Amino acid sequence: MKKHNFSAGPCILPEEVLNKASQAILNFNNNNLSLIEISHRSEPFINVMNEAKSLVRELLNIPTGYSILFLQGGASLEFLMTPYNLLSLNGTCGYINTGIWSKKAIHEAKSIGTTLIIADSSDKNYSYIPENINSQEQLDYLHYTSNNTIYGTQFKDYPKTDSILVCDMSSDIFSKKIDVSKFGLIYAGAQKNMGPAGTTLVIVKDNILGRTGRKIPTMLDYTTHINKDSMFNTPPVFSIYVSMLTLKWLKGKGGVEYIEQINNQKAQKLYEEIDRNVLFKGLVKDKDRSNMNVTFKLNNKELESVFDSLCKTVGINGLKGHRSVGGYRASLYNALPLKSVEVLVKTMQNLEKNNK
Ligand SMILES: *Cc1c(COP(=O)(O)O)cnc(C)c1O
Repeated sequence: MKKHNFSAGPCILPEEVLNKASQAILNFNNNNLSLIEISHRSEPFINVMNEAKSLVRELLNIPTGYSILFLQGGASLEFLMTPYNLLSLNGTCGYINTGIWSKKAIHEAKSIGTTLIIADSSDKNYSYIPENINSQEQLDYLHYTSNNTIYGTQFKDYPKTDSILVCDMSSDIFSKKIDVSKFGLIYAGAQKNMGPAGTTLVIVKDNILGRTGRKIPTMLDYTTHINKDSMFNTPPVFSIYVSMLTLKWLKGKGGVEYIEQINNQKAQKLYEEIDRNVLFKGLVKDKDRSNMNVTFKLNNKELESVFDSLCKTVGINGLKGHRSVGGYRASLYNALPLKSVEVLVKTMQNLEKNNK
């Protein structure tokens, strides 16, 4: 039986997607060739790319005037591509620092130009989302991380700003409805709600590009990839194909609106148990709790080994918290069924019964 996979990333993908993907490795579209041994410029793969893009456009209801790209280098390369493409030579950019991923983005921006920290939650180990963010400064863009995978915090609202809004949505894209028109640039590594590691989804508003006066290396220039339809060089065909399958699966389920409801149910169920069970405690401010990554701990550290072995017995995988936070982290990405959360909750209840 498949394990209950709470891994934070790479993470669970739908079973039917994995089945189709493994098929395509052996024999893609009944052509007696593997997906990964055909030209990316052949019609079958161009169809995959086009379908992936149109699914992204449809599922997120993307207005005209935006380009959709599948790039390489992970979200981590977007940390650098963002300032390269959007920070003008004498300009200033702003960042909201809500954790390690934000900090890494800030580090890259500082290497390119003037970077202001507009808000910061490092004083309490990033256990909350800063409030009343209202940047007055003249910024080329404001960057934030919508869901903080490591700490389990999530923005419930868009930061207010007159600047171009840029967001790292790696760990909550496609998990809930978003208004793309509020953003100039959105990016997300595939491996958390979309597909295998290897590609990064970029959604960029065309008219914000080409304004910096900066010379951008070819591969780091969004315009290069827009002009070549994400095929300036060989794209990560497998990762894009599996992402396409996952998006198709999501559409078949009823799209982002549907999955948002299920995600709310899953998160609510688990948070209710964390709050009810006397042995456990949540790690972040209630109103900033993430629906994707739920962080919690045992009040009595000595019970950890007992809980860990109970989890193992019922097939729970990937529950260990990030090393910078400790405790536990249950990642409830789109493909994780409600059933898995029920098994986890039951296991927490069993621990309580035996250790009151
Ligand atoms: C995982 C993660 C990243 C890093 O993504 P890579 O694709 O490994 O570079 C960046 N930001 C967030 C929010 C993440 O969860």
